[in-house]
Amino acid sequence: MNKEIIIIGGGLAGCEAALYLAKAGWMVLLYEMRPEKQTPAHSTAYLAELVCSNSLKSTRLDTASGLLKAEINALGGQLLHIADSCKVPAGQALAVDRDLFAQKVEASISAEPNIELIRQEICILPEVKTILATGPLTSDAMMQTLSQVLGEKHLFFFDAIAPIIEETSIDYSRIYKKDRYDKGDADYLNCAFTKEEYLSFVEALLQGEKHAAHEFENEFFAGLKFNFYENCMPIEELARRGVDTLRHGVMKPMGLETPDGKKPYAVLQLRAENADKTAYNLVGCQTMLRYGAQKAIFRLIPGLENAEFLRFGSIHRNAYLNSPALLKEDFSFKALPHIYLAGQLAGVEGYVECIGSGLVVAKVIAEGLRSLPAETIIGQLWRHLCTTSERKFQPINANFGILPRLGNEPKDKKAKKQMFSQRSLAALGCNNAADGDYSA
Ligand SMILES: Cc1cc2nc3c(=O)[nH]c(=O)nc-3n(C[C@H](O)[C@H](O)[C@H](O)COP(=O)(O)OP(=O)(O)OC[C@H]3O[C@@H](n4cnc5c(N)ncnc54)[C@H](O)[C@@H]3O)c2cc1C
Repeated sequence: MNKEIIIIGGGLAGCEAALYLAKAGWMVLLYEMRPEKQTPAHSTAYLAELVCSNSLKSTRLDTASGLLKAEINALGGQLLHIADSCKVPAGQALAVDRDLFAQKVEASISAEPNIELIRQEICILPEVKTILATGPLTSDAMMQTLSQVLGEKHLFFFDAIAPIIEETSIDYSRIYKKDRYDKGDADYLNCAFTKEEYLSFVEALLQGEKHAAHEFENEFFAGLKFNFYENCMPIEELARRGVDTLRHGVMKPMGLETPDGKKPYAVLQLRAENADKTAYNLVGCQTMLRYGAQKAIFRLIPGLENAEFLRFGSIHRNAYLNSPALLKEDFSFKALPHIYLAGQLAGVEGYVECIGSGLVVAKVIAEGLRSLPAETIIGQLWRHLCTTSERKFQPINANFGILPRLGNEPKDKKAKKQMFSQRSLAALGCNNAADGDYSA
């Protein structure tokens, strides 16, 4: 068998697939268009750049993201091990120093003799075996090609990213360190709101001047539907749903009592962006407000009155294809059986999900893998992409709701989630995984 393959896109899915295939003896040509051509959200030349949050979410086995990580490691994934070696404190989440993570992934790719990395934009689909992993910000030229080759079957949506502020500009007399319900090492900084402060903040969000949709569209995207993906809803759009929406959602105060034991009316959390904690992300504050409005409104947050912004929130293009309509069950295109699709463009949503997608496609190609146990999150993500009704298809992230029901479900939610995880890992043949243990 000819073991040569092209991978287009050196992001999370592309790098995971490249490393797996190279170790399985495949000769990989990995094409990455940056830094020659940047995307609207990437800012470095590194492979596997995390474009927004530096968190890969929880490592606990009673969370869907924690289980997905354990599954990926049980199946031989490599990027999460690298992430683990670049951890920054974030309670029980796996948050990383994003530059270090990307540098280490790039170093692993460069050190792999079976991978040749070529910095070039690919605008047409190759005629040889290829994995397309160009992500949610696939270049316009490639999107044009896909629209010509695949017809009108693909969809588009937009979502938003949160601002980052300078650590030294935080007023520590007004904020406190605490993880929700004290689960973790008090890595989050918390900004507590009184009722009056909260209502003023919500009112300001409602009044704030926004970018107009057309300002983000280019010629190719002009006229397409301007939809937000529910999980990335801008904070001002959430505020529009009702005055209490934020304090029942991203700003909920439960488990975040102030040091004097009082329960605030609402809490906004700040999460470290890097190991040195020189920058903090305003959790849940993704926005399409104009920069001037962001400065004024986010400075209403108690403790952030003098915040200096290192990056403002923004909205961006986020594309995915209608996989159930276009793909066979091995992730190859029905119309182009030598081209495989991986990552966010295939309709999985989230860093870890994209890593998992790259891994699965690599295993399909290297080992002829045809399915994974129905009890696993990764197996269900696979099914979602290939078998959902094409008219209802939406990107999906890891959640316990996609797993088949347990026989005797315990009432206790945590126990139930742990049972899901035990069942999944047993189905993959590993029974000894513990929270945050990647050696499963
Ligand atoms: C702005 C933004 C913020 C996000 N924030 C989060 C978040 O906070 N948390 C989360 O879990 N998920 C987030 N996501 C969703 C998703 O998890 C990430 O985008 C993830 O990086 C996608 O992985 P991927 O491998 O599919 O694509 P990417 O990691 O984006 O990799 C694709 C690569 O392909 C390259 N490329 C594109 N077109 C071409 C071409 N024609 N030729 C050659 N190279 C090309 C790109 O430069 C890029 O390096 C976000 C998405 C976006 C767009």
